[in-house]
Parts: sequence; structure tokens; C-alpha cells
Amino acid sequence: MAVTPSTHQVFPDIPAKAPEGSTEPGMTLSPKAQALAETLARGIPDRNTLHHILSTQDPDEIEAIRHVAEQTLLKHCGDTVRLRGLIEFSNRCTSDCYYCGIRRSNRAPKRYTLKLDEIVETAKWCGEKGYGSVVLQSGERRDAKFARFISDAVRAIKDETRSTELPQGVGITLCVGEQSTDTYAEWFEAGAHRYLLRMESSSPQLFAMLHPESQSYDSRVQCLRTLKTLGYRVGTGVMIGLPGQTFDNLVDDLLFFRDIGADMIGMGPYIPHAQAVLPGSATIPDAATRLQLALRMIAATRLLLPGINIAATTALQTLAPDGREQGLRFGANVIMPQATPNHVRRQYTLYDGKPCLDDSAGPCASCLEGRVNSVGRRVLRNAWGDSQPG
Ligand code: SAM
Repeated sequence: MAVTPSTHQVFPDIPAKAPEGSTEPGMTLSPKAQALAETLARGIPDRNTLHHILSTQDPDEIEAIRHVAEQTLLKHCGDTVRLRGLIEFSNRCTSDCYYCGIRRSNRAPKRYTLKLDEIVETAKWCGEKGYGSVVLQSGERRDAKFARFISDAVRAIKDETRSTELPQGVGITLCVGEQSTDTYAEWFEAGAHRYLLRMESSSPQLFAMLHPESQSYDSRVQCLRTLKTLGYRVGTGVMIGLPGQTFDNLVDDLLFFRDIGADMIGMGPYIPHAQAVLPGSATIPDAATRLQLALRMIAATRLLLPGINIAATTALQTLAPDGREQGLRFGANVIMPQATPNHVRRQYTLYDGKPCLDDSAGPCASCLEGRVNSVGRRVLRNAWGDSQPG
């Protein structure tokens, strides 16, 4: 990475570091960090710079990275945080992802699927709160009854959430795993216009470690391509801090996001689940390190893909009470407030320590506004809040 020391400041709000021994209060940046900030502000980071963003341990450089990522976000996307009410409508799953608490072979969770009416009522509540968009998320099923159920739910939500502000109803993101092209097309036709399918890791080796043989890397990539071809706004993402994962793996993940043409990124720290069977969980970095790495991944994504939507995920909040706010400060601009009805929320525990299990959706909604405002940002209401096409 070419980092040249500089004599002038790019960011006047961060004064250059005071001389050794100075007691001057306030934020300061060392000349080295100031030079990094200038490099980052100059253009899209290359592979070496991405690696450095993830790996530097220098507190001044970390603040420089955060600051430039935040400025890049404000310049390209504005100061609004876009909301997607998260409705975890079923924990029935035919997949067996080794890291996941609702995987098929885990007998602990009581399996549920919400009734269509309850899903629609929940989506209506989100619309009335001004959320603008909802995410319908569940375990993975590929039967015809499930496909029809989703189509019906999407149509009903669209019909029931039309308003003066949202003449086409709330925006709908689906997050229900790998499906056939026909099924994806049917749901798009019904009115879902976004799809979130995480790659989990762009490394074929790590992907194979996370999943049984029946779930293939190639099939996941093909699904993402199909979704793009069909016209969906496509979200993807990875887990950060997996056993054996390296900085180079994470840099590859960032370049994968770019190459697949992602419109949105939803990624977060890997958090072990007591009943999951992923080997090596005892060897992963501690929670603080995984949180820090996840924040750096957000900043790196923002710098690589400036106009994209990036979620500050619930998993960040699991590792620190203000994890999502930190995510916003590192360049994220989407939050998925928990809207799942309270009576099933405890059955949708993907990992241990998931927050907001007992709060009702109402208090969740008001707590969110304060959290967003606390980092100097505004909630975008009554709008889908898509990213500009890249
Ligand atoms: N079945 C759908 C799919 O796989 O896309 C949607 C639901 S799946 C449970 C949603 C996401 O939860 C996964 O993509 C995964 O990244 C995340 N997840 C599951 N277990 C996790 C864990 N132990 N730590 C962090 N994230 C986890």
C-alpha cells in the first residue's frame, strides 16, 4: 500500500496529532493515520489496502478508517437509516448448516410457521410505523406448498399496505434460502423485489466446512446470479470470525461482493450456538475481536462499494449493546428492527445471546429511533430505501 506522509489535513475536524507530551484534549490523528485517511479518501481501495483496513491494530488508523467510511456513506447515501421490519415467520428448515440453531437436526426449538393473517398483520404494523420495507425470513423449504404460501403472503402484504406515501405497498425482501429459478420468478412476479441470500463465505473450503455435502458452493453462487438476472435487488453477506478464517479470506469476500454485483450487504460476526455442531468454535477470536473485525468489514465494504446499502445487523448488537450504532458509525445505513411476534421469537434463536427476545415490537421501534439519533443519523420513514443502482 502506498501511504505517503502528508503535511496538510484532509479532515479538518480531526486535528493532526499534537506533539509528544501535549495534553491537548480531543481527537487527534498521527501523521501515519492522516496519510492513510488521505489514501482512503482518494479512491477505491486495492487488495493490499483492504487487507490493511482489516488488520491494522493502530487506534489512530482505525479511527481514520471509520471516519473516511462514515464520510463516504454521507456523501453517497446521505444521513438516513433505512428500516426493514424483520418478520421471522417460520423456523422449519430442511437444511443442516452446522453453525445454525434452527438447522434441521436440532431437536431443541419448537417448530412453528405463522399463519398468513398474522404475517400480514405484522407487515401492516411495520407499514403503519413508517418502516417502508419488511424482510420475510425463515428456515429453508423447497416444496410447492411453501412456494405458494410465500406468493400468497407477498400479494396480501402488498394489497394491505398500500398508502398515500407507499402507493405500491411496503418493499418486500425475501430471505428464505436457495430455491429454483421458477420459484424465484414466481415470487418476483408476486411483488417481492429484494432477496437476501448470504454466501456465508466466498471461500469454497470454508463454505464446505460450514455445510453438509448436499449444500454446494456452486449452487449458492448460481442462485445469486439467477436472482440478479430475474431483476431482484440482491443482498448477500458472510459470517466474520469463523474458525480458520483469515484476513485474505475476508478480502476475497469483499471482492466477491463487488464481482457478484450485490446491491446490499448483510454480514455480521459468527456467534456460536450451544446446539450447533460447527467444529473449531473454541478456536475463534474472542467477542471483542470479532466485533471489531465485523466493523472493519463494514467500513471496507463502504469504501469499496460506496453507494451500496449495508446493514448494521442484530449479531453486532449481540456482541455489544451498542453494536448496531457502532455499525452505523463505520458506514452501515440499514437496520432491521425485530418485528417477529413475541410468542415465537424464542424459537428463532440462530445463535446464543440474540437480543430483544422479550421486548415487544412497539418498544423495539421507539428504542431504535433514539439509537439512530444518538449517532447523528435520521430514520428514513415511509420509503423503500433501495440503494441507487451501481
Ligand atoms: N434459511 C435462509 C438462508 O439460509 O438464507 C434464511 C435464514 S438463515 C437462519 C439467516 C442467516 O442467519 C444466515 O444466512 C446466517 O448467516 C445467519 N446465522 C445463522 N447462524 C448463525 C450464527 N451461529 N452466527 C451468526 N450468524 C448466523
